[in-house]
Amino acid sequence: MRPVAVDAMLPYLTERYANPSGSHRFAREARRAVDEARDQIAEILGVAPGEVVFTSCGTESDNTVLVNAPGRVVCPAAEHHAVLHPVEAHPDGVVVGTDATGQVDLDRLSDACTPDTAVVSVMAVNNEVGTITDLAAVAAVVRERAPGALLHTDAVQAACWLDLREVAPLVDAMSFSGHKFGGPKGCGVLTVREGVAVPPLISGGGQERERRSGTHNVAGIVAFAAALAETDATRAAERERLTGLRDRLVDGISAQLDGVHETVPRDRKVAGSAHLCFEGIENEALLFLLDQADVCASAASACASGAMEPSHVLAAMGVDRSLAGGALRLSLGSTTTSADVDRAVDVVVDGVAHLRRTAP
Ligand code: PLP
Repeated sequence: MRPVAVDAMLPYLTERYANPSGSHRFAREARRAVDEARDQIAEILGVAPGEVVFTSCGTESDNTVLVNAPGRVVCPAAEHHAVLHPVEAHPDGVVVGTDATGQVDLDRLSDACTPDTAVVSVMAVNNEVGTITDLAAVAAVVRERAPGALLHTDAVQAACWLDLREVAPLVDAMSFSGHKFGGPKGCGVLTVREGVAVPPLISGGGQERERRSGTHNVAGIVAFAAALAETDATRAAERERLTGLRDRLVDGISAQLDGVHETVPRDRKVAGSAHLCFEGIENEALLFLLDQADVCASAASACASGAMEPSHVLAAMGVDRSLAGGALRLSLGSTTTSADVDRAVDVVVDGVAHLRRTAP
């Protein structure tokens, strides 16, 4: 976590540990902290404070707009499972194809959007390969073909890279998760445009104006705001710094090995993402070697079992199955240094070369 987020959170786990729904003075103090965090978050996300709904995670935010949608729901095949699974489980859920970069195919999206479509959900940034969606183009299609639909974007991976004030006017709802920008895990936000009805996924005490019941995670909310504020203030400089480091990482590896494929062109993706496919290796074996050398990486998205499953994102992009088996996803962020990158280059190059030498 970002130190500012830890510092912001600690008092609400200790001496300011009150429930903001109460009426005594300590409750009012907690309430004020939630309100201030809401104001700060709203400004950074480009929405009104009343449009911010606190949730328990990005998955809950995504599920909330999709699970009880009263009509057709549509999403692209490269979405995170937090979107994909509810769409697949919906009685009128439609999954549409993507192009070779993982970007939704606009013709197929247009065909899937009918006048009775309730929700279209298209992610702002892909979590696995880093592709940035052209949300203006998506919005143009959806507004024309399904004017009554709610347009939602899973912006969980966007906060570090995109100015959300430019994203907000294009869509009706956005999902966020604190742990993607140095805030706490288990703390999410769903924004919902004023006047747009989204039935609650969780009902009970009526918090968040009946949109999401449950006692507020005050410490998490305050820390979410602090981490988001620092992310927003440093975004432009970090984007530039990390573009340089990502290029050094990918170029360093590619210069020393043959058979390396950059999955998505760099000008189509965020700075913090390096996604490569190596010919002739199994990524499970590579991840083992990297882990032994203290380089922590993943192949697809992190899933609960830790089991390696073929990537649905690479399948949607049409990446050949054997090449997808050699996929490696390296992420860079606010704590990444040039020394980290140099070490990662050495370890990845050694690991791939070793596996190729010893392959049966
Ligand atoms: N959406 C995307 C694009 C993600 O990358 C993630 C997490 O990796 C989620 C949703 C789920 O967020 P959370 O872990 O907060 O439930």
